[in-house]
Amino acid sequence: MKIAVCVKQVPASQDAKMDPERGTLIRDGAVATNPYDLFAVEAALRIREQTGGEVTAFSMGPQSAEKTLRDAIAMGADHGVLISDRAFAGADVLATSYTLSQALAAKGPFDLIVFGRQTTDGDTAQVGPAVAVHLGRPYLCWIQELIGCSEEEIRVRCSGSRGDLECGIRPPCVICVDKGIGQPRIPALKAKLAAKKAPLECLSAADLPDQDPMHYGLEGSATRVEKIYPPYRGEKGFRLQGSMEENADRVSRWLSLAANGEYEGIRWEESM
Ligand SMILES: Cc1cc2nc3c(=O)[nH]c(=O)nc-3n(C[C@H](O)[C@H](O)[C@H](O)COP(=O)(O)OP(=O)(O)OC[C@H]3O[C@@H](n4cnc5c(N)ncnc54)[C@H](O)[C@@H]3O)c2cc1C
Repeated sequence: MKIAVCVKQVPASQDAKMDPERGTLIRDGAVATNPYDLFAVEAALRIREQTGGEVTAFSMGPQSAEKTLRDAIAMGADHGVLISDRAFAGADVLATSYTLSQALAAKGPFDLIVFGRQTTDGDTAQVGPAVAVHLGRPYLCWIQELIGCSEEEIRVRCSGSRGDLECGIRPPCVICVDKGIGQPRIPALKAKLAAKKAPLECLSAADLPDQDPMHYGLEGSATRVEKIYPPYRGEKGFRLQGSMEENADRVSRWLSLAANGEYEGIRWEESM
């Protein structure tokens, strides 16, 4: 089976910082492979072990994202493809998923495309399903267990809002896996050293089938982020001293002010 796995480089969570002036994420600090994508690589490798074939890791991002591809190769992926071009900058989910689907089409077709559940920075969990839609493939998300895999069918257990679901999906298809699929393997030192030297393929905008620049990067994005800011954390908790009616009245007023973002109007001293 020809398997692709998509992996993203994210800011290492303990080092993620915000630019207070611009309200954007500072992306030039320490970076790591998105933790959920280690499970995606693990799933791809386990499926390859059962069906045979090869696994190609894809990452869209700056040149530094090649580290993420090398991590996937150290775990056991056969090839790595970096999708990188200035034309892709500022991509939202729509443009990111379209770019990935174009790269997958350029190097495919693949029988199976594996995604992680979500990223720890963008966190939308939309890229996998969106790629499936761009490629016209069926997909399954929130996969907790790989029950059995063959070239004809991949049987899985997915978690849903009303309970778990056991189902099968026929390749060619897309799956998005969660942490339940099994612990990602830890590469041996020898594999890590070999991965450092492994040749990677680089795809730029010129290598993709769709040459319309309006479909990539900021131009191809349907959304614009106006501002990113940490959530309001408020003050330490305190006990209201008034009667039940007074307290209910205060809390209801504070909640309506907070709902409109008017935190300055809240007079906490009223609680004394
Ligand atoms: C309006 C807007 C503007 C943005 N502008 C920028 C910007 O200027 N610069 C910037 O860096 N980001 C930007 N982003 C964030 C960027 O769009 C997201 O990082 C990207 O869409 C992936 O979405 P996600 O992180 O939510 O992935 P999710 O949907 O949570 O990821 C699910 C899975 O998809 C796969 N995946 C996701 N992204 C990639 C990738 N890049 N390569 C390979 N596999 C992947 C992984 O398997 C992952 O587990 C912007 C987002 C928005 C909404």
